[in-house]
Amino acid sequence: TAHDVSGHCRFFIPEMDDGSRRRLDLDTALRRALEREEFTLHYQPQVGLASGRVVGAEALLRWQRPGHGQIAPNHFIALLEDSGLIGPVGEWVLHEACRAARRWLDAGLPPLRIAVNVSARQFRDHDIRGLVRRALDATGLEPQRLELELTESAVLRDADKVIRTMHELNDDGLSHALDDFGTGYSSLSYLQRLPVARIKIDRSFVSHITSNPGDAAIARAVVGMAHSLGLSVIAEGVETEGQLGFLNGIGCEEIQGYYFSRPLPENEFVALLREGRCI
Ligand code: C2E
Ligand code: CA
Ligand code: CA
Ligand code: CA
Repeated sequence: TAHDVSGHCRFFIPEMDDGSRRRLDLDTALRRALEREEFTLHYQPQVGLASGRVVGAEALLRWQRPGHGQIAPNHFIALLEDSGLIGPVGEWVLHEACRAARRWLDAGLPPLRIAVNVSARQFRDHDIRGLVRRALDATGLEPQRLELELTESAVLRDADKVIRTMHELNDDGLSHALDDFGTGYSSLSYLQRLPVARIKIDRSFVSHITSNPGDAAIARAVVGMAHSLGLSVIAEGVETEGQLGFLNGIGCEEIQGYYFSRPLPENEFVALLREGRCI
């Protein structure tokens, strides 16, 4: 049995090594990904319900990892944050999103809002205001075209500092959207303090909006509350005509989701814009 135990140990230890090695490999691969230009952005249309037309695009990060295909951000954003790589990668995202919006304008496409996700870490540890200024200056994009998406939890982590920075960014002319709304713990009075133009109703409510009266009630209340505070509402994760109809009925201004389009590579997104497709 002593033999069994040692056999077990021999088996167990290399397996642990594999796990940490994989993480290390991923970390090394991520470090190289930027210089090797393996990151790309996909764009998901945001559609205005009054016009039925595309009014904005959310930029979503993708990693084309050689030998691994395309990797979604949920698999590596946390690692980027832990390693501090979110700084340079976030800077690349912001520049690339602004460059893309600029290309679309130069191609004569109707002006859109471009929404970029920023994490808590980016807001706290990096000079986000300087970063935004440089991206806008480099591309000549008007600040009014740019919106930053922040989650409730990102804001809550260091509320006073984040809110101050959000005000400064508003002074520079850009706007903010509160992402994943409803999944955090914001109180009404707190929401009132946040300088956001828009609230994004989280997909977890939207998914069951036509079948779960509780989720329907929450969505209705969020829209009512947002409007009474002068904020606009966009629903994310809209997949069905039923969900669209319900959201339209409660006065939600915009929708985003597979019902209209998945996030697309830039060429496909531009093709969709050219078609002038409506809801
Ligand atoms: P998010 O900001 O909540 O983005 C929405 C996510 O829902 C995206 O996943 C999008 O592809 C997906 N989605 C959109 N419509 C639908 C739908 O109708 N049904 C379903 N089931 N899903 C839908 P994605 O692209 O995998 O991004 C995941 C998260 O990664 C994002 O969540 C965001 O928090 C983060 N992320 C993405 N790009 C960046 C970035 O450049 N910087 C930072 N800091 N975070 C990013
Ligand atoms: Ca988002
Ligand atoms: Ca979201
Ligand atoms: Ca979400």
